[in-house]
Amino acid sequence: MPDGAAVCARSIRIRGVVQGVGFRPSVWRVAHANQLAGWVLNEEGGVQIHLEGGEDRINAFVRDLVATAPAASFITAIEVEPAEPGGFREFTIRPSRRDGSPTARISPDLPVCDECLRELFDPRDRRYHYPYINCTNCGPRYTIVRALPYDRPNTTMAGWPMDDPCAAEYHDPANRRFHAQPVACPSCGPCYWLHCGGESLQGDASIQRTARLLAGGSIVAVKGLGGYHLACDATNATAVQALRERKYRKEQPFAVMARDLGTARHLVSLDAAAEALLVSSPRPIVLAPARIHLQAVAPDTTELGVMLPYTPLHHLLFDAGAPDALVMTSANRSSEPIAYTDEDALARLEGIADAFLIGERPIARRVDDSVVRSGGILRRARGYAPGAVAELPASRPILALGADLKNSITLVVGGQAIVSQHIGDLDQYEALQSFEETIRDFTTMYDIRWQDVIVVHDAHPQYASTRHAISLPAASTIAIQHHRAHAASVLAERGEWDRPVLAVVLDGTGYGDDGAIWGGEFLTGSLRHGFERVAHLRSAALAGGDAAARHPVQAAVGFVSQIPGLPDLEAPPFHFPDRYRHAQQILQLGTRTFPTTSMGRLFDTAAALLGFTRSITYEGQAAMWLEHLARGRNEANPYPFPFENGQLDFRPLLSAVIHNRLQGGDPASIARAFHEGLAAGLAEAIRTVCHSARLNTVVLSGGVFQNSLLLRSLQDRLAGTHLEIWTNHSVPPNDGGVSLGQAALAALQQDLFHA
Ligand code: ZN
Ligand code: FE
Repeated sequence: MPDGAAVCARSIRIRGVVQGVGFRPSVWRVAHANQLAGWVLNEEGGVQIHLEGGEDRINAFVRDLVATAPAASFITAIEVEPAEPGGFREFTIRPSRRDGSPTARISPDLPVCDECLRELFDPRDRRYHYPYINCTNCGPRYTIVRALPYDRPNTTMAGWPMDDPCAAEYHDPANRRFHAQPVACPSCGPCYWLHCGGESLQGDASIQRTARLLAGGSIVAVKGLGGYHLACDATNATAVQALRERKYRKEQPFAVMARDLGTARHLVSLDAAAEALLVSSPRPIVLAPARIHLQAVAPDTTELGVMLPYTPLHHLLFDAGAPDALVMTSANRSSEPIAYTDEDALARLEGIADAFLIGERPIARRVDDSVVRSGGILRRARGYAPGAVAELPASRPILALGADLKNSITLVVGGQAIVSQHIGDLDQYEALQSFEETIRDFTTMYDIRWQDVIVVHDAHPQYASTRHAISLPAASTIAIQHHRAHAASVLAERGEWDRPVLAVVLDGTGYGDDGAIWGGEFLTGSLRHGFERVAHLRSAALAGGDAAARHPVQAAVGFVSQIPGLPDLEAPPFHFPDRYRHAQQILQLGTRTFPTTSMGRLFDTAAALLGFTRSITYEGQAAMWLEHLARGRNEANPYPFPFENGQLDFRPLLSAVIHNRLQGGDPASIARAFHEGLAAGLAEAIRTVCHSARLNTVVLSGGVFQNSLLLRSLQDRLAGTHLEIWTNHSVPPNDGGVSLGQAALAALQQDLFHA
C-alpha cells in the first residue's frame, strides 16, 4: 500500500461468465499492477472484489480489468459500492463463498490453447505428450463441474491431489495455471489406457498404438470431453462401412475430424464465415459443401461435417500418425445418446469398437459435439452449453422442458436463460434418462427449490416431456403450444419482448390448439401478448399420425388423395411400394388418421413422388434428400403454390410435380421447381398477411428452415420489400430451440398465467 494518497475502499461485484475462465488471476494481476490491497473470491453470483487504495487507482483498476479480461470471460454487470476499509496490506485470492442461490454462469468447455500445445510437443517440458494438459485459458469446464462454485473439489479432478510442482503453479499468481482447477501433470494426474483384445497399454504407448490401429482400418472408441467417440479412417470405406453396420447407423452422415485447417480445406469448401466457425472456441462440426465425395461417410448428400482437433489427445493422435481425416462419431448405437461413463462405453460399445482408449478423468455429464452451418446452429452442445443465450424478465425460476425430438431444456434464473446441451429424442430410453439427469443437474447446480419454480412444457399430452413436467413438484406448470414456442425462440434471442411480428413456423410435427398435427403455421403477435394463428398450410389427412413421419409414401397418401386425376402411383415412374396401398386403406377407414398442416410431410410427399419411396432411417432424411436433389439445378420456374383465404394450397404444387414426372421431367429440375414454388408462395403469403396486419417484421423458425435452399430463396424474394426477416442464431430453428421459446413466453406472460 503506497503511503500518502487518501485510502478509500470499494466493494465490486462482477457477474457474467467469470468463473472457470481465469478471472480471479486476472483480477489479482490488475490489482497488483495498480498497487491496490484487498481480496477477490468466487461467490455464487459471480466474483466479489474488495479494494483498498487511492480512488484514482481503483478507477484505473476497473478500466484495466475490463480491458484485459480473459478471452473466455463475458462480463454482464459490474457494481461498485463504497466499503469499510479493513487495513489490508496486500491483495489475495480468498476461498470461495457459498450463500444464497448461485447464478454465476459456468463456462462451456474450451479447446486446448496454443501455449499448452507448444508445451505438449516440447520434449523438455514436464507435460510433454500429457493428454490432460490445460491452463486457465483452455481445457474442460462444464464436462467436469459437479457443483458450483467452480473449484477443484467440485470437479471430476477431485480424486487427483496436485503434486508440489503443480501446486506451485496453481498458487503462483504470475503463472498461467494460477487457479486452473483441472491442472495436472503425468506424475500426479490421470492418464490414458488402451484396452485392445486382452492387452492393456498405458500413456504414450496407448496413444501410439491407437494411431496405428486407426491407420490399419480399426474402429477405436476414444474418450473425449463430453463422451466417447467412435473413430476410424474416413477414407477407408471398408472401415466406415463396418462402423455403419456395427452401429446400426445405415445412412445418416458421419462427422469427420480433420488433422488441421489445411486438411479441412481439402475436404470441404469453406467460406470465411465457415472457416471462422471451424476455428472458433466451441470447435463445432461445421457443415459445408463437400469437395471430396466420401460415399460411405456421407451418402446422398453434397455436404460434409468437419471439425478440428480440440483436446490435447486429438493432437497427440494425429501426431502419432493417425489418418488425416478421422470419422469421429458419438459412441452409441443408432440414435441413442453418447456414452460417457467407462462402464457404459465398455458395455454398449462391445462388438462395435475393436479397442478402447480410456481416459481416467471422469466426465461429469454427456455433451455431444455441436453442429453448425454458416448462418445458423443446428445442434447446440459442447462449447456452447451451458452458456446463457438471452435475458428474460423472470421474478422466479422458470424451467422449460422443450419438445420430445431434439430435446433441450432451458432454466431461467437471475434473469438469464441458460439452455442445456442437446439431449436427444426422448423416445429413446437413454435420452430420457439423460433428460432427467440434466433437469437434476440444472436444479442442483443452481440451487433451485421446486416450490419456487414455474415448469413449462409442450402442449402435446402424450409427450414424455409433458408427462415428466406434470410429475414434478413445481409451484405451477404451464403448457405452451409448440409453434408459438418456435416463434418465441427467435424473439427471445434478440430480447424483443414487445415487437409485433408475423412468425412463419414450418416443421414436421407439433400438437395444435385443435388437436391436429400442425407444422405449416402463420402466427401473429408478440412475446408479451402471445401469438394467434392467422394462416396455415391447407390441411391433409395423415394416415397413422406421427408414425407416418418415418415413411414418405405413407405421409404422401393424404396429400395426393386431394389431387384431381391422380395417376396410379404404384405404376412407373413412381413405383410406390405396398405401404402406400395399406396407408390408403387406413385413410379410408379413418383409423389412426389425423388432420395435418405439416410442411415436413409435404416435403416427404414431394420426395416420395421423386423417388424416395423407402422408409427413412433418421429424422428429416427425405427432406434433406430432396434439398440435395434440387441443388443439382441452378434455377427453375416456380410451381404454383397459391395463398387464398388464409391457406397455402399444396394441390397445384403437387399436381405440377406429378405431371412433370409423368412427362419424364428430370427429378432434379422438378425438385428445384418445387423449392422455388414453396418460396414464391410463402413470400406472397407473407406479403399479404403483413400488409393486412400492418406488420413489418417476419420471424422464420422451425426445422424446415434448416433447408438453406428454401431459406435463401425466400429471403431473396423478400429482399426488395420493407420487411425485416429474423431467424434463429443462438439456438437451432429445429426443436432444439423450443425450450428457450417456452421459457420466454412463460417469463413474459407470467401475469396472464397467474391471473
Ligand atoms: Zn492452455
Ligand atoms: Fe418443431
